[in-house]
Formats: sequence, structure tokens, C-alpha cells
Amino acid sequence: VLMTAVRSDHFLLVTDLVERPGASRKVDLAVPVPADFDLPLTNVRDPLEFDGVIESVVDGLLVRGRLRAGMRLACCRCLRPLQRETEREVVELFSDPEDRDADDEVEAGYEIREGAIEISALLRDALSGAAPLQPLCQEGCRGLCAQCGTNLNETSCDCADIIPDSRWEALRDLRLPDGRS
Ligand SMILES: [Zn+2]
Ligand SMILES: [Zn+2]
Repeated sequence: VLMTAVRSDHFLLVTDLVERPGASRKVDLAVPVPADFDLPLTNVRDPLEFDGVIESVVDGLLVRGRLRAGMRLACCRCLRPLQRETEREVVELFSDPEDRDADDEVEAGYEIREGAIEISALLRDALSGAAPLQPLCQEGCRGLCAQCGTNLNETSCDCADIIPDSRWEALRDLRLPDGRS
């Protein structure tokens, strides 16, 4: 019985390009976010859009294009939900591991296997690069009060005045030897 392997959503057949340097094909894809993509405070909306070109070169296949993604983020200081549309230029080389020297290994996820490539790793890498590391709702967001959780952009609280500074608390019981005990 011949079973066809389950192809992922990021599977691209490239038999028309493999080992045909100079040949190229345009791609315009709308694909789901890789299942294992995980960044704190970041949620990427389906689908991802990628348009570009796959170019056959001597070393393999060059995938060039632009990734567009809608992201739901949270401000890293006040946790306010944010929406961002991000774009990222992508240039990645896929190679056939069999064609390479042993000491010149193909990066995992960027292999050409049996006339096909998987672009999950490409998408993951591009998304990681496109996501802001410390998203802010506004320049100079004042964040939340660490004691009471008040959003300091909206109002203020008295915590700073009430909570004693523990550094001075420790000094309160400290008695310096003055020789007059
Ligand atoms: Zn904020
Ligand atoms: Zn407070």
C-alpha cells in the first residue's frame, strides 16, 4: 500500500527549480503561523502572507520576499493590548544536504528534500525578527505600580509614600557601638 505523507501547510514542491540555476518562480502565499512559534506577549494572527520569488542558484534555492504578519501584543510595562502590522524582508538559502561537503552542513529546516522545501523554519525565524522585543503602548509608558497594580498612565497612587523603603528599615534596628553601654 502506498501512503502519501501528510504534507504540512508549509510544504512547497520545487521540482521545477531544483538544479536549474537561473530558473525562478513567483510565490504568493497565505499560510498559517507555525505551530511551535512562541514568543512571550506576542500572538500572531493567521494567515501569514508571504510574497516573493524562489530562485534556483548554484548552491540551491534562494527564497526572497516579504513576510507580512498581524500581531497582537501587550505593552511590556502596562500590559495594554496592542495591534501591530509587521513586515519583514526575507532572504534564505535552501540546499540539498547531499550536495554539500560534510563540514558545510545545511541549517536545520533549510534543506531541499526530494524536490521540496518546508518553510516553517523560515517563517519562524522571520517572525522572531519582526516581533518587537519590548513592545510599548507609547514612548515613555509609565507602567503599572508594582505594589497596587494601578496603571500609572491613567492615575497615580500613594504606594511610594506608604511602603517603607526596606533599605532604611534594616538600619532602624542597627545600633552603632558608641562605647557608652
Ligand atoms: Zn504601556
Ligand atoms: Zn500603587
